[in-house]
Amino acid sequence: MELNERKQLAELLFPNIKYNRDYYEKMYPERKLKDGAMVTRYGPSPTGSVHLGNLFSAFCDMVYARQSGGVFFLRIEDTDQKRAVDGGIDNITGVLKGFSILPNEGYSYGGEYGPYLQSERTEIYQTYVKDLIIQGYAYPCFITEEEAAAIRQEQELSKVKIGIYGSYAVDRDLSLEEIKQRLNEKKDYVIRLKSPGNSKNEIEIIDCIKGKMKLPEYDMDLILLKKDGTPTYHLAHVIDDHLMHTTHVIRGDEWVASLPIHYQLFDILGFEKPKYAHIAPITIKDSETGTIRKLSKRKDLWAGAKYYEENGIPIEALHLYLATIANTNFEEWYLNNQDKKIEDFHFSFDKQAIGGTSFDEAKLVNICKTYFSRKSGEEVFDETLKYALKFDPEYSELLKSNKEDMIKFLNVEKDSDRPRKDISKYSDVKEEFSYAIDELFTKENYSKYDGNKEFSVSLIREYVNNVLDLSVSNEEWFNGVKEFAVKNGYAASPKEYKQNPSDFKGHVGDICEALRVMVTGRTKSPDLFSIVKILGKTKVLNRISMYENYLNK
Ligand code: GLU
Repeated sequence: MELNERKQLAELLFPNIKYNRDYYEKMYPERKLKDGAMVTRYGPSPTGSVHLGNLFSAFCDMVYARQSGGVFFLRIEDTDQKRAVDGGIDNITGVLKGFSILPNEGYSYGGEYGPYLQSERTEIYQTYVKDLIIQGYAYPCFITEEEAAAIRQEQELSKVKIGIYGSYAVDRDLSLEEIKQRLNEKKDYVIRLKSPGNSKNEIEIIDCIKGKMKLPEYDMDLILLKKDGTPTYHLAHVIDDHLMHTTHVIRGDEWVASLPIHYQLFDILGFEKPKYAHIAPITIKDSETGTIRKLSKRKDLWAGAKYYEENGIPIEALHLYLATIANTNFEEWYLNNQDKKIEDFHFSFDKQAIGGTSFDEAKLVNICKTYFSRKSGEEVFDETLKYALKFDPEYSELLKSNKEDMIKFLNVEKDSDRPRKDISKYSDVKEEFSYAIDELFTKENYSKYDGNKEFSVSLIREYVNNVLDLSVSNEEWFNGVKEFAVKNGYAASPKEYKQNPSDFKGHVGDICEALRVMVTGRTKSPDLFSIVKILGKTKVLNRISMYENYLNK
């Protein structure tokens, strides 16, 4: 087809497209950013709930843009309307907000390079495709579903690559007259790329994470626009990342195989290519088969973003965990720089794992525990209250009415060199501090303590009534317990007891254990004297009576 015929064809196919490429090129000029600033984007498709792997990729987009003084934007890639789910877009924006992965620009954030919803950009895509028709790089293809199935069957029989390419691309060289006739007959068509590629050639790709790769050139006549005139993902990605001036496409490595398509489209459209950084998936060892597989929302509780929110896993701790997955040197850095924040760390692609990174639940729990141990009682209280307001309103009321004491309980042992690491999520607070709120402490708390020991109520009651002095120091307090123990036939230390067990009823530790169980319903707790002081004598005596009640059932 001659140029003037191609121009006629372009008008025939896109009568409503009034602008040309230059219009959009001018509308979305280069960004004014300092040298080295990265423009990254998170391009989710609203096809279901958000997954830890999605959060990870958005997290990487965020940190690389942030540390370089660049821009991180959100683009909703809803080109595949058939796979879109109701509420999918709100879910994405909600999860990003909830996880503090905050784009500087994009869908629901605004910006100069929008619209950021692909379904609102159809005119832009069509403008570029119209130009490709004029250039002779695209054509309408009228192959019906039945014809495509027949081509496929033939390809399967002759054991050749499946798809529309080479001699199978039967509508590649239709004349203008032939096309006009089919259009008059109102035949459905898609717009395909007239691929100049040859799969015998190799292209070299340098990925920021995976390094140098050689992949075969793409030679298929890819669909650019579907029957309804909307674009396929590949076309939309290339046009959008060009017009939005993305410098680094950071995305899951399942897209590596599509790189030859994207390279070809960038070249044909005459766009400069962004850099690509393909990140490895988060994997997990399957508990049934023992094999390493990708994290699955269906099989792994930890895979769905909702899990973190519902269980009250602190966002900052999750960010720390994602940072350890992102860069192999992060963990050590964080250990050596405990007063620093993620923002102080410099992420680099060459420290990013090339293969799959295994999900390590124990590591996440440990990071969370360390996180909590470094927070003050006030901070833990405020965040727990926020969590409870959403997921446990009854508890939130009790937290509010017990605020002062609750903060004191949460602060026990906070000033020690090795603060306690007993909670890993906000939902743990209710259980771990079950002794802190009187309204929640019932006889049932003792049944959770399943030691087979029965403690002497009268002995402990006597101790509290006659010996316990809440105004003394910790050391004096313990000396007091020891004195009381010895007076009542108990050894002053476990060591002394072990030397002559038959001489004693037990040792001082047994008295403490008895008091601890009666007061907290637990065999392990933070510093007992601190707890007793916060509760006060009356409550301590009430708990002893409750324990007595429990024994009598
Ligand atoms: N919309 C694609 C997805 O949800 C993202 C692909 C890309 O980032 O280029 O998987």
